[in-house]
Amino acid sequence: PQEMPGLAQKMEPVPDHGEESYHGSGRLKGRKALVTGGDSGIGRAASIAFAREGADVAISYLPEEEADAKQVIGLIEAEGRKAVALAGDIQEETWCRAMVKEAVSQLGGLDILVVNAGRQQYREKIEELSTEDFDRTMKINLYALHWIAQAAVPYLQPGAAVITTASIQAYHPSPFLLDYATTKAGIVAYTKALAKQLIEKGIRANVVAPGPVWTALQPSGGQPGEKVENFGKDSDFGRPAQPAELAPVYVLLASQEASFINGEVYGVTGGKGVA
Ligand code: NAD
Repeated sequence: PQEMPGLAQKMEPVPDHGEESYHGSGRLKGRKALVTGGDSGIGRAASIAFAREGADVAISYLPEEEADAKQVIGLIEAEGRKAVALAGDIQEETWCRAMVKEAVSQLGGLDILVVNAGRQQYREKIEELSTEDFDRTMKINLYALHWIAQAAVPYLQPGAAVITTASIQAYHPSPFLLDYATTKAGIVAYTKALAKQLIEKGIRANVVAPGPVWTALQPSGGQPGEKVENFGKDSDFGRPAQPAELAPVYVLLASQEASFINGEVYGVTGGKGVA
């Protein structure tokens, strides 16, 4: 198996699309959000945007990412919003359930649930994908979604929103991401089914399916050994997205303005498409 280095250290930022580029206008005023993987990448961008739109935000993350989480907590608090840090491993069902309870208790409720944390690994050949590898990806990307959603649903009131992060991999799977692509297709189906179930209670659920995004995660859609500078080159923009370029879609789907949007998949792929 060939692992690729994280992107964050390798690429220069694209000017004008950074974190500071998102300005809120109070669209999520008084709302309470939980974002898994909120310390890093796409989840970080969504968490900061939510706070800039007036929401209190709880972020969950792996304990070894405490330093990143502290930064995000600081940025949320700088907006005058409440920030809650929840460190733990979402491979554990008991932690997933406890984490949701803790978020609800510290925020005083829950209106926006973003299940975004994920893992990706390259395996060139089917023979190299061990049961342990497969299991871990399933747990983090798919089981945790069920555990977290199931724990959260009883707290969600009419007007609440669930958002999941899938991937373009659900629609255009790379041969080297068998397990990952499978979980991402699963996330799409799970979210659509959940959306049909929850709409009776006035709760909406939608999927964001990013294409290449410049984060610490290994580049999706790439190949083992692919040059980092080629990541996202085949998008209409000749580059991957910056995480902040995903944030407006999360904000829209979380907001009351999305009142007729349910069970939909929003591609943010730079023109590659999810259909
Ligand atoms: P990232 O590495 O910056 O973030 C991943 C997050 O998941 C981290 O915050 C990490 O704490 C969390 N996480 C991973 N394993 C965990 C575990 N066992 N327990 C608790 N938390 C865990 O990467 P990102 O690109 O921002 O990824 C966010 C989501 O976007 C993922 O679901 C990923 O599959 C999806 N995605 C990313 C891309 C891309 O090109 N970066 C493309 C499509 C979809």
